[in-house]
Amino acid sequence: MVIRDGLVAIKGEDEFKKISIIIEDGKIKELTDTIPLDDEIIDAEGLYVLPGGIDAHVHFNTPGFEIREDFYHGSCFAASGGITTVIDMPCTSLPPVTSLANLKTKLEVVKQQSVIDYLFYGGVNGKDLSDFRIKMKELAPYVAGFKCYLKSGMESFGSVTYAELREILLMSSELGLPILLHAEDEAYIVAAESEQRKLGSGVDNYYYSRPEAAEIIAVSRAAIMAEETGGDLHIVHISTGEAAEIAVKHGVSVETCPHYLAFCLEDFRKQGSVLKVAPVIKRHEQENLWSQVADDTISFVTSDHAASRIQDKNTGSIWSDYGGISGSGLLLPYLFSEGYMTQRISIKRLLEIVCENPAKRYGIANIKGRIAEGYDADLVLIDPHQEQMISGADFLSKGRMTPFEGKEFKCKIIKTIRRGEIVYDFNKGITSEAGSGKMLRVQGGRNELLD
Ligand SMILES: [Zn+2]
Repeated sequence: MVIRDGLVAIKGEDEFKKISIIIEDGKIKELTDTIPLDDEIIDAEGLYVLPGGIDAHVHFNTPGFEIREDFYHGSCFAASGGITTVIDMPCTSLPPVTSLANLKTKLEVVKQQSVIDYLFYGGVNGKDLSDFRIKMKELAPYVAGFKCYLKSGMESFGSVTYAELREILLMSSELGLPILLHAEDEAYIVAAESEQRKLGSGVDNYYYSRPEAAEIIAVSRAAIMAEETGGDLHIVHISTGEAAEIAVKHGVSVETCPHYLAFCLEDFRKQGSVLKVAPVIKRHEQENLWSQVADDTISFVTSDHAASRIQDKNTGSIWSDYGGISGSGLLLPYLFSEGYMTQRISIKRLLEIVCENPAKRYGIANIKGRIAEGYDADLVLIDPHQEQMISGADFLSKGRMTPFEGKEFKCKIIKTIRRGEIVYDFNKGITSEAGSGKMLRVQGGRNELLD
């Protein structure tokens, strides 16, 4: 396959380069100025060619919560937005990925469904800490890191205390894998929520049950403990600029999500539960967070894709409405449109926050995340001259509600290519088989699970 004459985004460069890409056996064989001959030539004249995006935080729910989302629909939606690799969370499947046996159970189902490549996180479930060190050790060769919560909203996956987090961080330094932390302070939220529940069941009640302080307190404590233990800590979905600053000061990495970059409390009031998510959308943090994305305080951006049915978002009370946003297919288009096209970030920085940095953080930077010889031929062809109106009804995800409904993005995803195979085409939809995606091997890890 040859991708001819596209404007190619190259790692570390601020200008696109008009060049052709020769692909062989799923890998990038050569970047060339001469026009090559091939049986399959894709004319990319006038299109931008970027590395396929890496969404390092999704909840695709398989197996167990397929009523909201499954790996097939989630991966198709991601592919439609230029994502070629996802890393799936351990907590929203049954059984949760807290042991090697449970990971195998999950993989058996996922490998028949995914159209893009994937990795898994292991998890440490505060509700069942029996033998957690042994379980982390047996999972370590196969996972990208371990997720845990200081405040969980799930029945099947519980929070850990600060003391337990310290033990988990010590294991992290022994295993050399990151701990991904949902950092909101449980004591703060339990007390504030019990007060707010007496006052009402609206958006403001939910906001005041877990405002900025709840995140800043948790991030501060966890970051201090990471420094003290030598544990490798990563804060997922940061929503407050001050918390991000504190984390980075202590050597802790952070990610944020499009919904925190795009919306504030006032939008939450207008839109209601479609914007319900944890951590809550904050009072006014968007420009803070955007400047931290630009200056590398925030190292990458993820979707935290968590789809739900429409009725789950409309139960009549903010307290019982589902918290989560269906977003994997919008991650790259959003960042391209509202980051690069509006000149908040350079193309070099865009590649870092949605390709290179997640690849590096999770041990796949040797094969994924850049357009260079020898790398997997994961590519996305983007038309920057067309606008696209966002409509949840068009989503390939099972979750078709979006806070971006009706917004115009300044780009259109034309094709997504995964290891040299076209997975998504704007005119044809998904063009790859369920199960064509594969589980990746983390550098230094193993993947004989696939044999
Ligand atoms: Zn999440």
